[in-house]
Amino acid sequence: MLLIFIVAAIFLSLILFDEDNNNKKDVRCPNCNSKVGENDIFCAVCKSRLMVNCKSCGKIVDARWSYCPYCSKSLK
Ligand SMILES: [Zn+2]
Ligand SMILES: [Zn+2]
Repeated sequence: MLLIFIVAAIFLSLILFDEDNNNKKDVRCPNCNSKVGENDIFCAVCKSRLMVNCKSCGKIVDARWSYCPYCSKSLK
């Protein structure tokens, strides 16, 4: 009986751990390496820009990207 309980506990913790991993996207500021939100425009710690507007199509894109995924123009 105890064994079943232990197996169930391990199985449950595995599921929870997996979910944790999926939810925890490790997005970090390229400037100060602080944890930032996935959709944050500015870093809350150093205020450096995480998102920029594409100069060609105006869509908001990640500041680290080299090319706009919407219009394929260079962002640099
Ligand atoms: Zn920062
Ligand atoms: Zn664009």
